[in-house]
Amino acid sequence: MSYAITPPPVPSLPIIGSDQRFPLRRIFCIGRNYAEHAREMGATVDKDTPLFFTKPADAVVTDGADVVYPQATHDLHHEVEMVVALGAGGRDLTEQQAGALIWGYGVGLDLTRRDLQAVAKAKSHPWDVAKAFDHSAPVSALRPASQVTLEADTALTLTVNGQERQHGRLGDMVHSVNEIIALLSTLFELKAGDLIFTGTPAGVSAMQRGDRFHAALAGVATLEGQVV
Ligand code: MN
Repeated sequence: MSYAITPPPVPSLPIIGSDQRFPLRRIFCIGRNYAEHAREMGATVDKDTPLFFTKPADAVVTDGADVVYPQATHDLHHEVEMVVALGAGGRDLTEQQAGALIWGYGVGLDLTRRDLQAVAKAKSHPWDVAKAFDHSAPVSALRPASQVTLEADTALTLTVNGQERQHGRLGDMVHSVNEIIALLSTLFELKAGDLIFTGTPAGVSAMQRGDRFHAALAGVATLEGQVV
């Protein structure tokens, strides 16, 4: 068998403390998973109807790399989020089964073309053009789950040009990581290589060309880069 064109490369992330890389399959995201962020967007949390969307795996930008300011927007927003990587898959999982799939953790930015999202919301259109664009998913190197202890007070922070923009704690998530994975598994068969963005705390705002960002999930991972 041979391909008719050169096959696209497999997107991947570095692993902290290893020369190996983590290959990516799909990126799932949950919206409105911190009540204060839902409020700042003029929305409310509906715990019974979680809001999921996806990004393509090749939207990932690795730590230290430049983020190209996207086409077709004048309002590129940052959303700092904990990112979970799955080392195994399944469907219709319990929360306990879901927790066993977690391979590692990192921190990422769910970059959003907020102006296009506002149009999509107003017209009841899907969110793809607002969320799933090129370079829309900067993600740190991953830390294996065996090296990670997460607490309710574990901090998720983002500074832009040295000034703090977002600061949250994992205990304020509406749906826990295991709940998110279990819920997703009722909608999609999850597989090894999937990444999950777990929602952003309050404080989202715009980034401009030239801005330098520093995201951190305390004790787990950091992500740096520049918008160009
Ligand atoms: Mn988000």
